[in-house]
Amino acid sequence: MILVLEPNTRLESLDYRMLTGQLERLPNVTFRVHREVGTEVTLTEIYLIGNTGTLTTEQMQVLPCVAKVVRVSEPYRVLGRHRQGDDRPSSFEYNGVRFGQDTLNVFAGLCAVDSRESVDAMMKALRDHGQVCTRMGAYKPRTSPYAFQGFGATCLPYVFELAGKYGIRVISMEVTHESHVDEIREALAATGNATGVMLQIGTRNTQNFELLKQVGRQQEFPVLIKRGFGITLDESLNAAEYLATEGNRKVVFCLRGMKTNMGDPHRNFVDFAHVPVVKRLTRMPVAIDPSHSVGSRARAPDGLLDVFHAVAQGVIAGANIVLVDFHPEPARALVDGPQALLLSELRPFLDDVARVRNAYEQRAQLARAQDVAS
Ligand code: PEP
Ligand code: MN
Repeated sequence: MILVLEPNTRLESLDYRMLTGQLERLPNVTFRVHREVGTEVTLTEIYLIGNTGTLTTEQMQVLPCVAKVVRVSEPYRVLGRHRQGDDRPSSFEYNGVRFGQDTLNVFAGLCAVDSRESVDAMMKALRDHGQVCTRMGAYKPRTSPYAFQGFGATCLPYVFELAGKYGIRVISMEVTHESHVDEIREALAATGNATGVMLQIGTRNTQNFELLKQVGRQQEFPVLIKRGFGITLDESLNAAEYLATEGNRKVVFCLRGMKTNMGDPHRNFVDFAHVPVVKRLTRMPVAIDPSHSVGSRARAPDGLLDVFHAVAQGVIAGANIVLVDFHPEPARALVDGPQALLLSELRPFLDDVARVRNAYEQRAQLARAQDVAS
């Protein structure tokens, strides 16, 4: 059970102390307080854990400070979308960009940062096409210990500086260790916080619970967590919940294909039919990563690259973020060159995304109108 308190409830107030005093007296029930400090309002939610089956919504509703009582019907207590009266937000804002289950943002960029020149060319192209988000891998988890592992902290100063120069507001960047978060924070501060970072948890770390707890404990950066490539959707959603129970609610869930040879010849088996499922079960914005799903620049007889087809499948299903690999010179990319799109493909790519998004919005509008009419 979740108690949503009146906005701006002060923890020192008499009412709040009366509330917690009453909660402490509930037999076999413990509680956990979550505060979300926003620019205008501070929201407080109290999670009741344990033997809550005997408590009634009416009984809790009359307690001091309580604005709303939500009965938990899904296993994902914090991020879940609960059936009864759950109108908690399904969006958040970060560094001036809104991310929600109703928005669409493209994060086109480099799989891995390999030179200042690549970053400059990529970000310039994004700026020229009105984009404010990108992906830039600095810490790369690689299958082989002999493969390029990313430039790590050494590339951060120029990545953030160039982002500031080209008006990039949010960079999705994978972290594989908690120390990377500190390195990112320090490098950002050194540029006067020229940009923002969305921390990315890669598919190989989806169930790295200690990393999830560490990254979840900070509320400064939002987090994009990839679905684990060989585990169930439920297991991956529980992994996202780890971030949220530690305090970070700015969580995006990213589908990136499943590892199975049933997906051959694609690198992974495209799972974008799960976009609406994740939106139904949780309040997280849903991202898709067509590049790591498809893994090549293969082209269908209709003229469209398989990557474009996969993007369209995700966007028509209501995806909120598209994370996609581009490179100014894919032949020289140090990681995943074969799946990268070319800068000359950025305009057609963005136009195609807009076209499909438009079709999705029309379909959703029609479905809502039919729902009201019936
Ligand atoms: C990536 O996005 O750079 C990446 C390594 O993806 P994944 O974790 O999905 O393999
Ligand atoms: Mn990659």
